[in-house]
Amino acid sequence: MIDLRSDTLTRPTPGMLAAMAAAPVGDDVYGEDPTVNAFEERVAALLGHEAGLFCATGSLSNMVGVWLHTESGTEVICDRQAHLVRAEMGGHALNHGVTTRTWHSAHGVFDADVVEEMIADEAGPFLVRTSCIALENTHNFGGGTVLPIETVRAVGEVARRHGLAMHLDGARLWNAHVATGVELADWGREFDSVSVCFSKGLGAPVGSMLVSSRENVERARVQRKRLGAGWRQAGVLAAAADYALTHQLDRLADDHAAAAALADEVRAVRPEAVGDVPTNIVVVSTAPGEAARVVLEAGAAGVAVSAMGPSVVRAVTHLDVTLDECRQAGRTLASLL
Ligand SMILES: *Cc1c(COP(=O)(O)O)cnc(C)c1O
Repeated sequence: MIDLRSDTLTRPTPGMLAAMAAAPVGDDVYGEDPTVNAFEERVAALLGHEAGLFCATGSLSNMVGVWLHTESGTEVICDRQAHLVRAEMGGHALNHGVTTRTWHSAHGVFDADVVEEMIADEAGPFLVRTSCIALENTHNFGGGTVLPIETVRAVGEVARRHGLAMHLDGARLWNAHVATGVELADWGREFDSVSVCFSKGLGAPVGSMLVSSRENVERARVQRKRLGAGWRQAGVLAAAADYALTHQLDRLADDHAAAAALADEVRAVRPEAVGDVPTNIVVVSTAPGEAARVVLEAGAAGVAVSAMGPSVVRAVTHLDVTLDECRQAGRTLASLL
Protein backbone atom coordinates (compact mmCIF):
# COMPACT_ATOMS: atom_id res chain seq x y z
CA MET A 1 0.00 0.00 0.00
CA ILE A 2 1.26 3.49 -0.90
CA ASP A 3 -0.16 5.28 2.13
CA LEU A 4 -0.69 8.98 1.45
CA ARG A 5 -3.49 9.63 3.95
CA SER A 6 -1.26 11.77 6.15
CA ASP A 7 2.34 12.68 6.97
CA THR A 8 1.66 11.46 10.53
CA LEU A 9 1.94 7.85 9.33
CA THR A 10 5.74 7.66 9.26
CA ARG A 11 7.54 5.15 11.44
CA PRO A 12 10.78 5.79 13.33
CA THR A 13 13.92 5.15 11.29
CA PRO A 14 16.73 2.89 12.63
CA GLY A 15 18.87 5.96 13.43
CA MET A 16 15.99 7.49 15.34
CA LEU A 17 15.40 4.30 17.35
CA ALA A 18 19.10 4.18 18.23
CA ALA A 19 18.96 7.82 19.42
CA MET A 20 15.91 7.02 21.55
CA ALA A 21 17.60 4.00 23.13
CA ALA A 22 20.72 6.01 23.96
CA ALA A 23 19.01 9.09 25.43
CA PRO A 24 19.80 10.01 29.05
CA VAL A 25 16.47 10.49 30.86
CA GLY A 26 15.05 11.71 34.16
CA ASP A 27 11.72 12.80 35.61
CA ASP A 28 10.42 15.71 33.54
CA VAL A 29 7.81 16.78 36.12
CA TYR A 30 10.81 17.30 38.44
CA GLY A 31 12.48 19.20 35.57
CA GLU A 32 15.20 16.51 35.55
CA ASP A 33 15.08 15.00 32.07
CA PRO A 34 18.32 16.26 30.45
CA THR A 35 17.22 15.25 26.94
CA VAL A 36 13.91 17.10 27.24
CA ASN A 37 15.58 20.17 28.80
CA ALA A 38 18.21 20.42 26.06
CA PHE A 39 15.65 19.89 23.34
CA GLU A 40 13.32 22.56 24.73
CA GLU A 41 16.23 25.01 24.68
CA ARG A 42 17.24 24.00 21.17
CA VAL A 43 13.80 24.46 19.63
CA ALA A 44 13.07 27.71 21.49
CA ALA A 45 16.33 29.22 20.18
CA LEU A 46 15.64 27.95 16.67
CA LEU A 47 12.29 29.75 16.68
CA GLY A 48 13.61 32.97 18.25
CA HIS A 49 11.97 32.45 21.66
CA GLU A 50 13.22 32.20 25.25
CA ALA A 51 11.81 28.85 26.34
CA GLY A 52 9.98 25.73 25.18
CA LEU A 53 7.55 23.16 26.55
CA PHE A 54 7.69 19.67 25.00
CA CYS A 55 4.13 18.34 24.65
CA ALA A 56 2.51 15.06 23.60
CA THR A 57 0.48 16.57 20.75
CA GLY A 58 -0.01 19.73 18.73
CA SER A 59 -3.55 19.98 20.02
CA LEU A 60 -2.11 20.19 23.54
CA SER A 61 0.49 22.82 22.67
CA ASN A 62 -2.16 24.87 20.82
CA MET A 63 -4.54 24.45 23.77
CA VAL A 64 -2.03 25.72 26.29
CA GLY A 65 -0.62 28.32 23.87
CA VAL A 66 -3.99 29.97 23.28
CA TRP A 67 -4.76 29.71 27.01
CA LEU A 68 -1.70 31.89 27.73
CA HIS A 69 -3.29 34.82 25.93
CA THR A 70 -7.02 34.45 26.67
CA GLU A 71 -9.20 34.83 29.73
CA SER A 72 -12.31 32.69 29.96
CA GLY A 73 -15.15 34.57 28.26
CA THR A 74 -12.94 36.15 25.59
CA GLU A 75 -12.35 34.91 22.06
CA VAL A 76 -9.60 33.76 19.75
CA ILE A 77 -10.12 34.55 16.07
CA CYS A 78 -8.77 32.36 13.27
CA ASP A 79 -9.42 31.01 9.80
CA ARG A 80 -12.62 28.98 9.42
CA GLN A 81 -10.58 25.97 8.25
CA ALA A 82 -8.05 26.21 11.10
CA HIS A 83 -7.11 23.00 12.90
CA LEU A 84 -7.77 24.93 16.10
CA VAL A 85 -11.50 25.19 15.39
CA ARG A 86 -12.05 22.08 13.28
CA ALA A 87 -9.91 19.37 14.76
CA GLU A 88 -9.31 20.09 18.47
CA MET A 89 -12.72 18.81 19.55
CA GLY A 90 -13.90 22.08 21.07
CA GLY A 91 -11.13 21.86 23.66
CA HIS A 92 -10.48 25.61 23.82
CA ALA A 93 -14.13 26.15 24.78
CA LEU A 94 -14.49 23.09 27.02
CA ASN A 95 -11.24 23.38 28.91
CA HIS A 96 -10.72 27.12 28.97
CA GLY A 97 -14.03 28.90 28.29
CA VAL A 98 -12.61 30.51 25.16
CA THR A 99 -14.93 31.13 22.20
CA THR A 100 -13.86 31.32 18.57
CA ARG A 101 -14.87 33.39 15.59
CA THR A 102 -13.56 32.75 12.11
CA TRP A 103 -12.73 34.54 8.88
CA HIS A 104 -13.10 33.11 5.39
CA SER A 105 -10.12 32.75 3.09
CA ALA A 106 -9.02 31.12 -0.11
CA HIS A 107 -7.16 28.02 1.09
CA GLY A 108 -5.90 29.65 4.28
CA VAL A 109 -4.30 32.66 2.55
CA PHE A 110 -5.80 36.13 3.19
CA ASP A 111 -4.97 39.82 3.75
CA ALA A 112 -4.40 41.47 7.10
CA ASP A 113 -7.51 43.69 6.73
CA VAL A 114 -9.69 40.55 6.71
CA VAL A 115 -8.37 39.92 10.21
CA GLU A 116 -8.65 43.53 11.36
CA GLU A 117 -12.34 43.70 10.38
CA MET A 118 -13.04 40.78 12.73
CA ILE A 119 -11.53 42.26 15.87
CA ALA A 120 -13.84 43.24 18.72
CA ASP A 121 -11.96 45.57 21.06
CA GLU A 122 -13.27 46.11 24.60
CA ALA A 123 -17.00 46.76 24.07
CA GLY A 124 -18.32 46.63 27.64
CA PRO A 125 -21.33 44.34 28.08
CA PHE A 126 -22.09 44.16 24.34
CA LEU A 127 -19.55 42.01 22.53
CA VAL A 128 -17.17 39.19 23.34
CA ARG A 129 -13.72 40.77 23.54
CA THR A 130 -11.06 39.46 21.14
CA SER A 131 -7.90 38.55 23.01
CA CYS A 132 -5.87 36.50 20.55
CA ILE A 133 -5.29 36.05 16.82
CA ALA A 134 -4.27 32.53 15.79
CA LEU A 135 -2.65 31.81 12.41
CA GLU A 136 -1.77 28.43 10.85
CA ASN A 137 1.27 27.89 8.63
CA THR A 138 1.39 25.87 6.49
CA HIS A 139 -2.37 25.56 6.30
CA ASN A 140 -3.46 21.94 6.59
CA PHE A 141 -7.05 22.00 5.33
CA GLY A 142 -6.11 24.80 2.93
CA GLY A 143 -3.88 22.26 1.15
CA GLY A 144 -0.44 22.92 2.64
CA THR A 145 -0.52 26.58 1.62
CA VAL A 146 2.08 29.03 2.91
CA LEU A 147 0.92 32.33 4.40
CA PRO A 148 3.67 34.70 3.19
CA ILE A 149 5.92 36.31 5.81
CA GLU A 150 4.78 39.75 4.60
CA THR A 151 1.17 38.87 5.46
CA VAL A 152 2.21 37.48 8.84
CA ARG A 153 4.03 40.76 9.56
CA ALA A 154 1.02 42.82 8.46
CA VAL A 155 -1.26 40.81 10.77
CA GLY A 156 1.31 41.33 13.54
CA GLU A 157 1.03 45.11 13.09
CA VAL A 158 -2.75 44.83 13.35
CA ALA A 159 -2.39 42.76 16.54
CA ARG A 160 -0.06 45.31 18.14
CA ARG A 161 -2.35 48.20 17.20
CA HIS A 162 -5.21 46.44 19.01
CA GLY A 163 -3.12 45.12 21.90
CA LEU A 164 -3.78 41.48 20.95
CA ALA A 165 -1.56 38.44 21.25
CA MET A 166 -0.57 36.29 18.26
CA HIS A 167 -0.34 32.50 18.40
CA LEU A 168 0.96 30.37 15.54
CA ASP A 169 -0.21 26.83 14.89
CA GLY A 170 3.00 25.90 13.14
CA ALA A 171 2.44 22.13 12.99
CA ARG A 172 4.03 22.31 9.53
CA LEU A 173 6.06 25.50 9.90
CA TRP A 174 9.02 23.32 8.89
CA ASN A 175 7.46 22.91 5.44
CA ALA A 176 6.89 26.68 5.14
CA HIS A 177 10.56 27.24 6.06
CA VAL A 178 11.84 24.72 3.51
CA ALA A 179 9.47 25.95 0.77
CA THR A 180 10.32 29.65 1.19
CA GLY A 181 13.82 29.72 2.66
CA VAL A 182 12.58 32.17 5.32
CA GLU A 183 14.42 31.37 8.56
CA LEU A 184 12.49 29.64 11.33
CA ALA A 185 13.33 32.43 13.78
CA ASP A 186 12.03 35.04 11.33
CA TRP A 187 8.67 33.28 11.35
CA GLY A 188 8.77 32.62 15.09
CA ARG A 189 9.58 36.15 16.20
CA GLU A 190 6.32 37.48 14.72
CA PHE A 191 4.33 35.60 17.39
CA ASP A 192 3.87 35.63 21.17
CA SER A 193 3.74 31.83 21.10
CA VAL A 194 4.33 29.12 18.51
CA SER A 195 3.37 25.45 18.42
CA VAL A 196 5.34 23.11 16.16
CA CYS A 197 4.92 19.36 15.55
CA PHE A 198 7.65 16.75 15.13
CA SER A 199 5.12 14.02 14.39
CA LYS A 200 4.16 15.26 10.91
CA GLY A 201 6.63 15.47 8.02
CA LEU A 202 9.65 15.47 10.33
CA GLY A 203 8.85 11.84 11.09
CA ALA A 204 9.02 11.53 14.88
CA PRO A 205 6.51 9.10 16.41
CA VAL A 206 5.23 11.61 19.00
CA GLY A 207 5.77 15.20 20.05
CA SER A 208 5.13 18.90 19.69
CA MET A 209 6.64 22.00 21.25
CA LEU A 210 5.19 25.25 22.53
CA VAL A 211 7.68 28.13 22.57
CA SER A 212 7.19 31.56 24.13
CA SER A 213 8.74 33.83 26.80
CA ARG A 214 10.28 32.16 29.86
CA GLU A 215 7.47 33.49 32.04
CA ASN A 216 4.77 32.20 29.68
CA VAL A 217 6.35 28.76 29.46
CA GLU A 218 6.44 28.48 33.27
CA ARG A 219 2.69 29.23 33.32
CA ALA A 220 2.12 26.79 30.45
CA ARG A 221 3.98 24.06 32.36
CA VAL A 222 1.51 24.39 35.23
CA GLN A 223 -1.49 24.35 32.90
CA ARG A 224 -0.20 21.30 31.03
CA LYS A 225 -0.02 19.43 34.37
CA ARG A 226 -3.57 20.59 35.19
CA LEU A 227 -4.72 19.04 31.92
CA GLY A 228 -3.18 15.77 33.04
CA ALA A 229 -0.32 15.92 30.59
CA GLY A 230 2.78 16.19 32.73
CA TRP A 231 5.09 13.30 31.88
CA ARG A 232 8.13 11.60 33.29
CA GLN A 233 11.03 10.06 31.26
CA ALA A 234 9.87 11.85 28.11
CA GLY A 235 13.48 12.08 26.97
CA VAL A 236 13.06 8.93 24.88
CA LEU A 237 10.51 10.89 22.82
CA ALA A 238 12.46 14.15 22.84
CA ALA A 239 15.43 12.18 21.48
CA ALA A 240 13.31 11.00 18.55
CA ALA A 241 12.11 14.52 17.82
CA ASP A 242 15.64 15.92 18.20
CA TYR A 243 16.93 13.32 15.75
CA ALA A 244 14.13 14.23 13.32
CA LEU A 245 15.05 17.90 13.47
CA THR A 246 18.74 17.21 12.89
CA HIS A 247 18.43 14.59 10.14
CA GLN A 248 15.00 14.90 8.55
CA LEU A 249 14.32 18.63 8.16
CA ASP A 250 16.10 19.37 4.87
CA ARG A 251 14.58 16.30 3.23
CA LEU A 252 11.11 17.91 3.43
CA ALA A 253 12.13 19.35 0.05
CA ASP A 254 11.93 15.76 -1.26
CA ASP A 255 8.33 15.52 -0.01
CA HIS A 256 7.50 18.78 -1.81
CA ALA A 257 9.07 17.46 -5.03
CA ALA A 258 7.16 14.17 -4.69
CA ALA A 259 3.87 16.05 -4.18
CA ALA A 260 4.58 18.15 -7.28
CA ALA A 261 5.35 14.99 -9.28
CA LEU A 262 2.12 13.34 -8.10
CA ALA A 263 0.19 16.45 -9.12
CA ASP A 264 1.87 16.47 -12.54
CA GLU A 265 0.70 12.91 -13.20
CA VAL A 266 -2.87 13.88 -12.36
CA ARG A 267 -2.68 17.05 -14.47
CA ALA A 268 -1.39 15.09 -17.45
CA VAL A 269 -4.82 13.46 -17.64
CA ARG A 270 -7.03 15.96 -15.81
CA PRO A 271 -5.44 19.44 -15.97
CA GLU A 272 -8.24 21.08 -13.98
CA ALA A 273 -8.25 18.55 -11.12
CA VAL A 274 -5.24 19.93 -9.23
CA GLY A 275 -4.30 23.51 -8.35
CA ASP A 276 -1.00 24.74 -6.96
CA VAL A 277 0.93 22.38 -4.72
CA PRO A 278 3.00 24.65 -2.48
CA THR A 279 4.31 21.97 -0.09
CA ASN A 280 3.55 18.29 0.64
CA ILE A 281 -0.26 18.22 0.41
CA VAL A 282 -2.03 17.56 -2.89
CA VAL A 283 -5.71 18.43 -3.12
CA VAL A 284 -7.48 16.66 -5.99
CA SER A 285 -10.97 17.65 -7.17
CA THR A 286 -13.17 14.79 -8.33
CA ALA A 287 -16.44 14.93 -10.26
CA PRO A 288 -19.26 16.08 -7.94
CA GLY A 289 -19.86 13.57 -5.12
CA GLU A 290 -17.19 11.14 -6.38
CA ALA A 291 -14.52 11.48 -3.66
CA ALA A 292 -15.67 8.42 -1.67
CA ARG A 293 -15.63 6.24 -4.79
CA VAL A 294 -12.17 7.44 -5.79
CA VAL A 295 -10.82 6.75 -2.27
CA LEU A 296 -12.33 3.24 -2.28
CA GLU A 297 -11.03 2.32 -5.74
CA ALA A 298 -7.62 3.87 -5.11
CA GLY A 299 -7.39 1.72 -1.98
CA ALA A 300 -8.20 -1.39 -3.98
CA ALA A 301 -5.43 -0.37 -6.40
CA GLY A 302 -2.90 0.00 -3.58
CA VAL A 303 -3.06 3.76 -2.96
CA ALA A 304 -4.49 5.09 0.33
CA VAL A 305 -5.77 8.67 0.21
CA SER A 306 -8.52 10.47 2.14
CA ALA A 307 -11.75 12.21 1.19
CA MET A 308 -11.76 15.77 2.52
CA GLY A 309 -15.23 16.53 1.25
CA PRO A 310 -17.78 15.04 -1.17
CA SER A 311 -15.67 16.05 -4.17
CA VAL A 312 -12.18 16.49 -2.74
CA VAL A 313 -9.45 13.89 -2.22
CA ARG A 314 -6.21 14.60 -0.37
CA ALA A 315 -2.80 12.98 -0.73
CA VAL A 316 0.06 13.85 1.63
CA THR A 317 3.66 12.91 0.84
CA HIS A 318 6.16 11.93 3.52
CA LEU A 319 9.32 10.11 4.59
CA ASP A 320 7.94 6.60 4.07
CA VAL A 321 7.00 6.94 0.38
CA THR A 322 9.39 7.29 -2.55
CA LEU A 323 9.22 9.67 -5.50
CA ASP A 324 8.36 6.75 -7.80
CA GLU A 325 5.56 5.60 -5.52
CA CYS A 326 4.12 9.13 -5.55
CA ARG A 327 4.25 9.21 -9.35
CA GLN A 328 2.50 5.87 -9.44
CA ALA A 329 -0.14 7.12 -6.99
CA GLY A 330 -0.70 10.14 -9.25
CA ARG A 331 -1.27 7.85 -12.26
CA THR A 332 -3.67 5.69 -10.25
CA LEU A 333 -5.68 8.69 -9.12
CA ALA A 334 -5.72 10.14 -12.65
CA SER A 335 -7.11 6.88 -14.03
CA LEU A 336 -9.92 6.92 -11.44
CA LEU A 337 -10.98 10.51 -12.12
C1 LIG B 1 -1.58 17.78 13.10
C2 LIG B 1 -1.90 19.19 13.38
C3 LIG B 1 -1.98 19.68 14.69
C4 LIG B 1 -1.78 18.82 15.91
O1 LIG B 1 -2.36 17.59 15.85
P1 LIG B 1 -2.17 16.49 17.00
O2 LIG B 1 -2.75 15.28 16.38
O3 LIG B 1 -2.91 16.99 18.19
O4 LIG B 1 -0.70 16.39 17.28
C5 LIG B 1 -2.23 21.01 14.86
N1 LIG B 1 -2.41 21.82 13.81
C6 LIG B 1 -2.32 21.40 12.53
C7 LIG B 1 -2.48 22.37 11.43
C8 LIG B 1 -2.07 20.07 12.28
O5 LIG B 1 -2.00 19.65 11.01
